[in-house]
Amino acid sequence: MGTNRKPSPEERLQQWIKPELFEASAYYVPDADGLIKLDAMENPFILPDELREKIREVISDAEINRYPDPNACNLKKSLREVMDIPEDMAIILGNGSDELIQIIALAVAHSGKTILAPQPGFVMYKIIADTVGARFIGVDLNCDDFSLDSEAMLSAIDQYQPAVVFLAYPNNPTGNLFDENTISEIVNVAPGLVVLDEAYSAFSEKSFMQRIEEFDNLLVMRTLSKSGLAGLRLGILVGPALWLNQLDKIRLPYNINTLSQKLAELILSQYEILQQQAEIICANRSTLFKQLQKIEGVSPWKSSANFILFKTTNTSADIISAALIEQGILIKNVSGNFPALKDCLRVTVGTGDENEAFVVALKLALSS
Ligand SMILES: *Cc1c(COP(=O)(O)O)cnc(C)c1O
Repeated sequence: MGTNRKPSPEERLQQWIKPELFEASAYYVPDADGLIKLDAMENPFILPDELREKIREVISDAEINRYPDPNACNLKKSLREVMDIPEDMAIILGNGSDELIQIIALAVAHSGKTILAPQPGFVMYKIIADTVGARFIGVDLNCDDFSLDSEAMLSAIDQYQPAVVFLAYPNNPTGNLFDENTISEIVNVAPGLVVLDEAYSAFSEKSFMQRIEEFDNLLVMRTLSKSGLAGLRLGILVGPALWLNQLDKIRLPYNINTLSQKLAELILSQYEILQQQAEIICANRSTLFKQLQKIEGVSPWKSSANFILFKTTNTSADIISAALIEQGILIKNVSGNFPALKDCLRVTVGTGDENEAFVVALKLALSS
């Protein structure tokens, strides 16, 4: 008695923080101050003056003393229309699709359960799996073209019986679309949920949105972040009510704030503006791709998203990435993320001027 020593701050932390958190790492966001920002797949264009004037009105009329609509009914209606969401499918909105990934993981993947995804892939699947205490299994893509290794996927699904399989379609950071039949086969054999993450659907011609009803374990996830509204934080999960009614219990009641709801409704009422911007980005993508193809020491992969992955074949990606920052241009160095991405860099497609500045800087970096 009386020998209870007060624990040191570190001891107290070790005692109470769950062990898996010490192993996990936070998502890293670099400082982009003063740089041309081509690292995070943002839409580089701003909205027209007239719409910005309406945005000012909506903001000043917003009743921010009240809680937001917990179900964001009006916003869901607009989304159904612009995204052509099948009528009998339910919708859950998230504070970005990152929050939806977390909701899914919390709902199904408690400890001992597995979350599976191909790799190289979107890093948040693993980061979130780690923080909820689920086991994460990454299955290697084919190394030449980053297509799904269907044999490896099917056998890993059989072996690990994952609660959720995440497939990004198109994939980030590789930019390619996986084979449609292989995806169907994966959904058919998966014991649990398959989430098709269509974050880049605005820039790709393919989607499973109209095929959800063919399966009973497929959810399609979208986001407005890559289309021009990254700052509003709006993710969209679509699927059978049977599943979404349960997932919705994890969602915090007012997760979509009033300003995000009102502004997204307004901007979606002129959705063609975002669509036109996406068209310009796709045109810029093909120009940038051709320019990268012509540069010696650079090997780009074709992309169905608003970014291009490329390999530096004669110089280390770390050196090029640093040399670009020196010249005021920030792209994403994914070289260290997965062995298959050694010396790979990912550049977001920007405005014509931004892309031009990037190409000039890249050539200079390669020649020095
Ligand atoms: C960017 C991205 C997301 C996250 O988007 P937010 O809606 O901004 O959270 C999800 N999945 C993939 C594949 C992405 O690239």
